[in-house]
Amino acid sequence: MRVLISGSGIAGLTLAYWLHQYGHTPLVIEQAEAIRRGGYAFDFYGTGYDVAERMGLISTLQQQQIRLDAISYMGASGKPYATLNTTLMRKVMHDRYMSLMHWTLEEALYNTIVNDVEVRYGRSLTAVKSSPEEVSVTFNDGTTEAYDLLVGADGVHSNTRHLVFRAEKHFQHYLGYTFASYPLPDHYGIGRNWNNYIEPGRLASAYCSNNDGEIITFLIWKTANQDYIPREQRLAHLHQVFAGMGWITSRLLDDVSDSTAIFMDTVTQIHMPTWHSGRVVLVGDACGCPTLISGQGASMAMGGAYLLAKALHETFNYEDAFLRYEQQVRPHVEKRQKKTQDSAKRFDSNSLLGLCIQQLMMRILLRDSFIRLLRQHFGGESIL
Ligand SMILES: Cc1cc2nc3c(=O)[nH]c(=O)nc-3n(C[C@H](O)[C@H](O)[C@H](O)COP(=O)(O)OP(=O)(O)OC[C@H]3O[C@@H](n4cnc5c(N)ncnc54)[C@H](O)[C@@H]3O)c2cc1C
Repeated sequence: MRVLISGSGIAGLTLAYWLHQYGHTPLVIEQAEAIRRGGYAFDFYGTGYDVAERMGLISTLQQQQIRLDAISYMGASGKPYATLNTTLMRKVMHDRYMSLMHWTLEEALYNTIVNDVEVRYGRSLTAVKSSPEEVSVTFNDGTTEAYDLLVGADGVHSNTRHLVFRAEKHFQHYLGYTFASYPLPDHYGIGRNWNNYIEPGRLASAYCSNNDGEIITFLIWKTANQDYIPREQRLAHLHQVFAGMGWITSRLLDDVSDSTAIFMDTVTQIHMPTWHSGRVVLVGDACGCPTLISGQGASMAMGGAYLLAKALHETFNYEDAFLRYEQQVRPHVEKRQKKTQDSAKRFDSNSLLGLCIQQLMMRILLRDSFIRLLRQHFGGESIL
């Protein structure tokens, strides 16, 4: 089958690999002009780790993982009051855990298909028409082509979803937070750590990337405002939101240069009544974004893509495959989305008392004796 995949992110590339393995002909389009480096880091374990293992990627990823020693929660004085060392984290995840830059995983996935699958950069869809026989698409250069299937793997703000289903506002479920992330040189002695500082309704953190001497700043705050903030206004906005915040927060903002790209987005889940329509199906954040708070988005994207390709391989027609894929993956996605909504409420300790209770809990929980509880908390079980 000729399958067009919109989006060369984690879900799109994983799907392209498995479809090719099963003898199909995928073609990937990506709106970015080239494969991107930079961005943010994430925890990689559970389902994502399992799929990467089946793709033979573990040793490549291990070589490029971030050498993180510890995740600490800092007091206003600058001293940590709770620390989770990554040795404990590895124990929690049965030694199947890595801290990766998003681009490291994307690049490793890309390298698995580079010789076998065409990837067209700078391309997106402007129109889609699905009939019982084929799906006809128009690209942003005005050309039109027909495929057997179209898969929307174009992330939380999916264009495919917008063109084939409905506008984003019909499916978005805002969790009440906005976040920002950007790189800086490590002038703060972060070293191989991930340091977090929390005040009611806002969190500032900094962690090492896999480039020597570079850190990634991550800021998240509670706000009712979901409006898109243009790039040129982002720094001023952050200064406003984080004014008076303790720890090294003001330095993390003062040191941003004009050329620093600040990534900013809302923490928004996607809830849809169905993930497929005719010959079009969605995968990853496009249909079930659990958000960054879940720590499971990449895993769900890879697991979903793997199970979609498998369903297409094992069933007689695409309708049965889409149904099977959705039946297998949706319950896991919904479970994580629900858990994430609860976590988002817990983080919402707008009072100092709530914050103190949270700090106390962390001091108690981040120890060897609570490994089982931690395992449940991180939801590291695989869906495969
Ligand atoms: C700060 C942060 C921290 C995170 N931490 C974790 C974590 O610890 N663990 C975890 O598992 N997950 C984490 N996540 C979530 C994880 O990154 C996502 O869930 C995952 O990347 C989803 O994969 P995807 O392929 O569905 O979407 P994406 O990775 O977003 O890929 C979508 C692709 O589609 C492309 N695209 C968009 N629009 C178009 C268009 N119109 N035409 C063509 N292409 C298009 C995009 O450029 C992109 O390449 C985090 C996310 C963020 C932002």
